[in-house]
Amino acid sequence: MTEKTPVLRVDGVQKWFGKTPVLQGIDIDVAEHEVVVLIGASGSGKSTLLKTINLLERVDDGQIFLQGDDITDPRVDADSIRARIGVVFQHYNLFPHLTVLNNITLASRSVFKVRKAEAETRGLELLRRIGLEAKAHEYPDRLSGGQQQRVAIARAIATEPELLLLDEITSALDPQLVGEVLDLVGELKVAGSTIMMATHEMSFARRVADRVIFLSNGTIVEAGPPEQIFDAPEHPETQAFLSRVRHAGQGF
Ligand code: ADP
Ligand code: MG
Repeated sequence: MTEKTPVLRVDGVQKWFGKTPVLQGIDIDVAEHEVVVLIGASGSGKSTLLKTINLLERVDDGQIFLQGDDITDPRVDADSIRARIGVVFQHYNLFPHLTVLNNITLASRSVFKVRKAEAETRGLELLRRIGLEAKAHEYPDRLSGGQQQRVAIARAIATEPELLLLDEITSALDPQLVGEVLDLVGELKVAGSTIMMATHEMSFARRVADRVIFLSNGTIVEAGPPEQIFDAPEHPETQAFLSRVRHAGQGF
């Protein structure tokens, strides 16, 4: 029996910035509907890994496959690959000069050539789903940070991407706005999205992750289901990292 092709396969990926190794041979498979959460100290390589998957950074060695397609092949068309991946970053997600609805419909219309009326119907449906239909014709600066990130997520899923990459999407938010954004990610998981995300929100990672990957210095130190990583970490580095997080006041 052949195994189902993973949505994402990261195979031996290495990346240097100058002489500094930032990813030192990363191997990860992400199955359809799986939620994989990257944790690790600042500078451990989480963002760089997500950027190599979105082709914002080139790998120096190894390969990355999206549904079996080698996206690190230099002949590949980066835009057509990016059109298959939804991305939300910590900051600066929305186009400030476009209304909320136009932010959400832009890629459908410009990349996928969906007709305006159809894109807007679907955009409004998405806004209803995230409880922000009333904001459709507002500009992003009229929304709270939490609402903006929810719109950014809606925009990322509007084109029904095969994979969703989320990089510290709550790190810039006031604490009282974090929950509404993470709740939406939880709903996407229930709806079947395939997600790889970096976060400092350990209790969320415990609740939503199918698999937690602890990175340190560009290496996967330990990976496993959340109960294993959070309750019984095997590696001293994982133990030290989690104990620092606990001392910083973040229970999980
Ligand atoms: P994380 O997201 O886990 O905080 P990053 O992937 O942002 O980690 O960074 C990993 C390492 O790569 C850090 O040492 C960082 O300083 C370095 N780095 C990231 N981006 C660049 C860049 N564009 N040029 C040089 N070094 C970088
Ligand atoms: Mg980062």
